[in-house]
Amino acid sequence: MADVTLKNIIKRYGKTEVVHGIDLDIKHNEFVVLVGPSGCGKSTTLRIIAGLEEISGGDLYIGDKVVNDLAPRDRNISMVFQSYALYPHMTVEENLGFGLKISGMPEADITERVKHAADILGLDLLMDRMPAALSGGQRQRVAMGRAIVRTPEVFLFDEPLSNLDAKLRVQMRTEIKKLHQKVKTTVIYVTHDQVEAMTLADRVVVMRDGYIEQQGSPMEIFNNPVNMFVASFIGSPPMNMLDARVQENASGWELAFSDGHAISMPDRFLGKVTDGQDVVVGIRPDDIAPVGHGMFTGEQSEALPLTINISEPQGTETILFVTLAGKEVQSKMLSPKLVDNGDVLLFQVSLDNIHVFDRESEQSVLVKR
Ligand code: ADP
Repeated sequence: MADVTLKNIIKRYGKTEVVHGIDLDIKHNEFVVLVGPSGCGKSTTLRIIAGLEEISGGDLYIGDKVVNDLAPRDRNISMVFQSYALYPHMTVEENLGFGLKISGMPEADITERVKHAADILGLDLLMDRMPAALSGGQRQRVAMGRAIVRTPEVFLFDEPLSNLDAKLRVQMRTEIKKLHQKVKTTVIYVTHDQVEAMTLADRVVVMRDGYIEQQGSPMEIFNNPVNMFVASFIGSPPMNMLDARVQENASGWELAFSDGHAISMPDRFLGKVTDGQDVVVGIRPDDIAPVGHGMFTGEQSEALPLTINISEPQGTETILFVTLAGKEVQSKMLSPKLVDNGDVLLFQVSLDNIHVFDRESEQSVLVKR
């Protein structure tokens, strides 16, 4: 059993602090993905867990043991890197078994473990090949195989798919997910790709500038982002962010955009905002569509006449670009019909799914302080 716990972990390089006291509880068997833009501190955090970086402050536990000063090889973890670092002069089989061999494991045990890993990863027919004769995806699998044979309690992955082309990346993503189901160990996985994070993770940890902004299941993060950063980072195409003002008038509360358009404010925001407050309304492209062409149910906004700037047919849906509140807004039109640039269509917004952020703090107004 290996839970991994970070308590107030700090990392400094010289005088510069790059990780600012992170708390994270990772449960045995959990698949946790650290995601965030380049430079947010995710690799540093992973390398701290691996023991490849010294900790400047705080405690790291694997199980119930503090491992701050434990050498990487004594932590019972395996790390798969972006560059596979296979031994070029060894066959796949030798690559898989090499680490065990130098640790002095008996030959028969090595053979058994290597066979087991090869079975899991579908490498059995490639055992005699040299790395140069493997495709990118196959090399990646050998790299994962080398991690598996050590039967670690924790797997660490640092952007393992970023050297693969788009199609292979999607394929390997599925393989990693299947692998986790088969070997059932704790996985901590770093990526800058939010789609990878959403599809792989039991729990997504969104980082920015050395802080954790939010953690939760992929759907929690998607449905209830706590601030504008997380809301914009997760989801594709990204959430539309529109300046608006909260207004209470004779007909009730509304969110008024700068261009004169307005939508009713759903009741869940009552008491969370004040009359006249400057806010940002977040609307995902799935949640604004021409009347009759959305997939949302529930409460919908007044119809807004908006002009099509450009349309991008994608088969089952068309992405429409319109201007609302002075911003270019993306809308997903389902059961698409042909539209011309310059056409004016009536759009509705799913009021059940909009987000409201305070413009100054950038926090969701629904988050308790
Ligand atoms: P990410 O993996 O999210 O792209 P990193 O963890 O690699 O980010 O880096 C976090 C921050 O720490 C960055 O600002 C980076 O420039 C800095 N950093 C990383 N490694 C070093 C180092 N060896 N010396 C100094 N600064 C570093």
